[in-house]
Amino acid sequence: MERRVYELLDSYRGELTETLQRWIRVPSVKGESAEGAPFGKEVRRMLDTAMEDARRMGFPVRDFDGYACDITLGDAEEKIAVLGHLDVVPVGDGWTRPPFDAVMEGTRMYGRGTNDDKGPSLAALYAMRAIREAGIPLKKSIRMILGCDEESGWEDMEWYAAHTDMPETGFSPDASFPVINTEKGMIHLLLRGKDAEGGVRVLEMATGDRPNVIPGESTALLEGGEELAEKIRAWGEKTGLPFTAEVTEKGVQVTATGIPGHSAYPEGRRNAIGMMLCLLRELGAEGTVRTLAEAVGMEQDGKSLGCACRDDVSGELTCNMGILHLKDGEWTGTLDFRCPVTADQEALKNTAIAHLPGIEVEVLELKEPHHVPADGWLVSRLLAAYEEETALKGEAIATGGGTYAKILKQGVAFGALFPDEEDLAHQADEYTDIDRLMTAARIYANALIRLAAE
Ligand SMILES: [Zn+2]
Repeated sequence: MERRVYELLDSYRGELTETLQRWIRVPSVKGESAEGAPFGKEVRRMLDTAMEDARRMGFPVRDFDGYACDITLGDAEEKIAVLGHLDVVPVGDGWTRPPFDAVMEGTRMYGRGTNDDKGPSLAALYAMRAIREAGIPLKKSIRMILGCDEESGWEDMEWYAAHTDMPETGFSPDASFPVINTEKGMIHLLLRGKDAEGGVRVLEMATGDRPNVIPGESTALLEGGEELAEKIRAWGEKTGLPFTAEVTEKGVQVTATGIPGHSAYPEGRRNAIGMMLCLLRELGAEGTVRTLAEAVGMEQDGKSLGCACRDDVSGELTCNMGILHLKDGEWTGTLDFRCPVTADQEALKNTAIAHLPGIEVEVLELKEPHHVPADGWLVSRLLAAYEEETALKGEAIATGGGTYAKILKQGVAFGALFPDEEDLAHQADEYTDIDRLMTAARIYANALIRLAAE
C-alpha cells in the first residue's frame, strides 16, 4: 500500500479516538420506536451522529428513514460493500467501568460498542477517507452501510434492501480477523409453558433480555425459609456451583452466578439460567421447569434436546437459553441455536420441539447458514491485505456468530478482533485497543484498495 495512505491514517488517530468516544457516549440500545426512529431515540441519535461525522469528512450520506444509512466513496456502478452497525446490546452485569463513558486506560477504550461494532465501523470509515484523500483511483465504488438493528431483528437491512440496491460483494467488520467465510445457521425459539404445582414454588424469576446473550447472573424468589436456604447452599457446595440463598420476608432469594458471554461462543462460559434450572429440579420442581432442566439444563451443545451435531467446515452446534421469565403463572424463555452449515435446520427445530413436551414453541427467527469459498476472489484479497499489514498467516475460519456478511451474495466477516485478543462482545468491560484499531484501519484500507482499485 502507498506510503501516503499510512501517513494519512496515522494523522487521523487522535480524531478517530475522539469520534469513537462520542459514539460510545450515545447508548444506542434498542428502544421504543417513534416516528423516524424505528429503534428508539438513542439509536436515532447515534445514526444522526454517524451521518454528521461522515458528511463532515466529505462523503455523500443517505438516511434510510432511521433504519440505516449509507456512505459512499466513488461513483462507479460496481460496488464493494462494508456493512457495520451502530446499535449495541444492553449493558448486562459485571461492569467495573462505566459502560457509556468511553474511559481511556492507556491505549484501551472501555465501553459498550467499542468493539461491537462502533470501533471497527469507524476504522473502516477512516480507511475510506484515507483512500479518498490519497487520491487513489477506484474502478469500483465503496459503499459503507451502517445498520441500526443488527443486535435484534435485522429489520434495518430488510428496509435498506427494499429501498435501494444491495451490493453483491463485500465484508462486514463485525467479528474477527483473519477472515470468516463460514457462518452457522441460526434458530431462535420462543418457549411458553405453564407453571406447575408441586415441588418447590417459584414466586419471582426474570432473567435475561436477549436470546443471544449467555446470562451471567440469575436470581429467583422461592417460597420457603431457612431449611430451603440450607438445602440450596448445601447443593451449591456439593456441585461446586456458586449459589447464594438468603431468607427474606417474602421467601428465599437465590442467586446463581454464571460466566456471561455471547451465545455463539459458549466455550468457557456458564449459563446462570441453566444453573437455576438444575437447582430447581434438584429442589423438586415439576412441569415446565423440570422439562427445561432435563432437555437443556447447563448444556451448550443441544445434546439432551437431540440436536448435537457437527461438520468439518463449521464445527459444533451450540445452544443457549438467554431468557427465562415467570409471569402470571406462565414461563417464557428463548433458545438460540447456531447450526453447522450442513445441518438441516427444519429437522433440528422439529427435534428440539419433540424434546420439549408440554411446552409451546414458536420460531422467532431462522437464519440460513452462509459460506463463501476460501480460495475465491474475495477471500484471497482480504487475506493478502491482512498478511501484508500484520505479517501474520491468514486463514479462512468458521463462526457461530451471524454478521451482516450473509446478506451479501459474496460476503464475509473481516475483523476487527485479532486472533490473540479477548472477545468481549456482549460482555462486561468491553473495550478496544486504539493501537489495534489503527492496525485494523490499515488492513481495511489495504483490502479496499485491492477490492476496488485493481
Ligand atoms: Zn456486532
